[in-house]
Amino acid sequence: MRWSQTFIPTLKETPAEAEIISHKLLLRAGLIRKLTGGLYTFLPLGLRALRKVEQIVREEMDRAGALEILMPALQPPEIWQQSGRYESAQGVFFKARDRAKKEWILGPTHEEVVTTLIAGELSSYRQLPRNFYQIQTKFRDEIRPRFGLMRAKEFVMKDAYSFDVSDEAAQASYQKMYDAYARIFHRCGLNTMAVEADTGVMAGKFSHEFMVPADTGENEVAWCENCHYAANLDKASSGTPPTETASGGALEKFATPGVATIEDLARPPYNAPASRQIKTLVYMVENKPALILVRGDHQLNEAKLAGALGTAAFRPAEAEEIFAALGAHPGSLGAVGVKHLPIHADDSLRGGAGLATGANEDGFHLRGVEIARDIAVNDWNDLRLARAGEPCLKCGRPLRIRRAIEVGHVFKLGTKYSEAFNACFLDEAGRKQPAVMGCYGIGVTRTLQAVVEQCNDKDGIIWPASVAPYTVCLTPLSVAPGGPVMKLAEELYAALAARGADVILDDRDERPGVKFKDSELIGFPIRVGIGERSLARGEVELKPRGGPMTPVKAEQAVEKVLEILAV
Ligand code: ATP
Ligand code: MG
Repeated sequence: MRWSQTFIPTLKETPAEAEIISHKLLLRAGLIRKLTGGLYTFLPLGLRALRKVEQIVREEMDRAGALEILMPALQPPEIWQQSGRYESAQGVFFKARDRAKKEWILGPTHEEVVTTLIAGELSSYRQLPRNFYQIQTKFRDEIRPRFGLMRAKEFVMKDAYSFDVSDEAAQASYQKMYDAYARIFHRCGLNTMAVEADTGVMAGKFSHEFMVPADTGENEVAWCENCHYAANLDKASSGTPPTETASGGALEKFATPGVATIEDLARPPYNAPASRQIKTLVYMVENKPALILVRGDHQLNEAKLAGALGTAAFRPAEAEEIFAALGAHPGSLGAVGVKHLPIHADDSLRGGAGLATGANEDGFHLRGVEIARDIAVNDWNDLRLARAGEPCLKCGRPLRIRRAIEVGHVFKLGTKYSEAFNACFLDEAGRKQPAVMGCYGIGVTRTLQAVVEQCNDKDGIIWPASVAPYTVCLTPLSVAPGGPVMKLAEELYAALAARGADVILDDRDERPGVKFKDSELIGFPIRVGIGERSLARGEVELKPRGGPMTPVKAEQAVEKVLEILAV
């Protein structure tokens, strides 16, 4: 490609809309443009990089035995009713109406569609295992679309769905996808970690997310450098020193005028350390109040709560609901003596004694609380958010927490959808069985931006060769037609193209400084500078992006470039 023939609108200034480096660079390097919040156009360079990511995904999915299909983006709401997700997914739907005013859904994901498909085709165990995938645009009405392609309203996803005869076979399919994902991200030049992920209310299922460590990531990951335990903070467990048990004391009510928080009670004159307090939270669970207890210095993890309750239909209670449930206001709430509400407690409180908590009477607290004696806990679970520095449950070394971008997700689904859609087969013994499913997503457009977020410096993007829009940029410093510089540039251009390199020739009549700046900003892996001065010595200047410039003999330039690109 000749620069003058394509369209690369680079920008000197950073557009105000962009908050994170990758978003800024994609705009500045002329890869994407915004239509409106969460909606972007891919310009020629951006589309080339996107196609390369797609191609890597496709090759690895094919290699893992998955079959590419293409399902409709437009979906009938009936299939969402059939799966039971029509209500819970309302928040993400973009909807459309046809001429008869019938409702349609722009697909945010395709479990319902693919399971409908399989239900119509599957009859015998001999047809399994199967894994179908597609690369397609998804639509989600995100609460906060932001960071360019990272969280968009419309984005390209690769989604795959596996169907197996048994749990064991499904596990093998899952592992294949897990391995394929590791290869895909590695080939894209991304440094990722696979972390255990929350499975929401689908107990017994499990999943991993592929995370790109980045300060701008919207996820937090807890991990152990020693044993490589890694989990999304939604799911992460950690050890905690047991709650101290200064037992023996009697339950005692004491006046705490004006005390409204854990911190207030930790200060003189009360001096109840946060780790010796019980934090009592009131939640409405399927519209009925319930108490959730965690230690005063701990935070509730709502994802874990969903798993423990077996439903995601809960929310913190409003002030009136709290008063109706306990007869007191936040600041003085407690579970001592409460018999009329379900009580869910975090494991770290187990066996605790000598604790302080609210007395369910405004301006009063209790001390000397002994959980086993004084609180009728219905249900113990790991409910708290893990913290950095707490011991890893596997090896005891301190956990670390870092932010990360989720680029992919593998999920063992079980039979939820196959049962709902009657996607069943007859096993060897002639018994009817639901197919055991898995689903596997990669945010293709998000992955592209994650590469930029991870690979850049002060001058611009540093593309890994595998996904670079062009891998070689030929930069003649004078473009006079027929001159020796342009003549050599044309020769190298033809030779590199003939050898299969993705080469762009910067044939613009611009100052060298402008050309160099643009090629650094866009981040082509190799630039070949061709100028009169070096040419007089029979040399061109080879500059890998982010590396030092080295002169090479003009006649060796093609081999040298191909050599660098091969590694
Ligand atoms: P997130 O937690 O980031 O909202 P998700 O868990 O809802 O993502 P999945 O349903 O697992 O996402 O979708 C598979 C992949 O699609 C994700 O791993 C992510 O890479 C990508 N993805 C999801 N939502 C978006 C979005 N709004 N914009 C761009 N990519 C997205
Ligand atoms: Mg996910």
